[in-house]
Amino acid sequence: MARYTGPSCRQCRREGKKLFLKGERCYSDKCALDRRAQAGRPTVPGQHGASRKKVSEYGLQLRAKQSAKRYYGVAENQFYKYFEVAERKEGITGENLLRIVESRLDNIVYRLGFASSRKEARQLVRHNHFTVNGKKVNIPSYLCKENDVIAVAEKSRQSEKIKSVVEACGARPVPMWLECDKSNMTGKINRMPNREDIDIDVEEHLIVELYSK
Ligand code: SF4
Repeated sequence: MARYTGPSCRQCRREGKKLFLKGERCYSDKCALDRRAQAGRPTVPGQHGASRKKVSEYGLQLRAKQSAKRYYGVAENQFYKYFEVAERKEGITGENLLRIVESRLDNIVYRLGFASSRKEARQLVRHNHFTVNGKKVNIPSYLCKENDVIAVAEKSRQSEKIKSVVEACGARPVPMWLECDKSNMTGKINRMPNREDIDIDVEEHLIVELYSK
């Protein structure tokens, strides 16, 4: 399936929740979803968006899956593959699935505050700005592991763009399972996240139900 290239805010409006796709704007009062809600305007896009009221069980499952995919910027095929891996692992499949997407390098770069959004993180990773355990990795979907050290590449540390991004994201808290040394532009995965560490507003069991049909 082709990657979505339309307006980011429309995706949040469709899901009815903030997916934090546009960097610092999402945390400001310019957020389109917040502004629409405050003005009492319908948030769901489309001519008949506001009139859609009853949601079927399938609809709920579909929305949960779409929200998670959009939140992490993962395409359908890839997301389904993650589900298959999650299913084979020990433990709760839904939680395994979230743990896998959280361990993607683009997500870790974003969580560490080295990018203002996952989209920007993907771009920076592709442009060779990051290393994992000292080796350059330019694959955004690279899955990181416990004790991995993620750092801004030596050559990129002087880049004005990287410096300004790191500075702008400085106020965003870093999750407990990660450790970040902003001054040295490095971070470490202390442990893999538990469900309570992952702040995504999605009922992951609905995704499992959908894919298990
Ligand atoms: Fe979503 Fe961010 Fe747009 Fe708000 S500003 S609607 S959180 S993408």
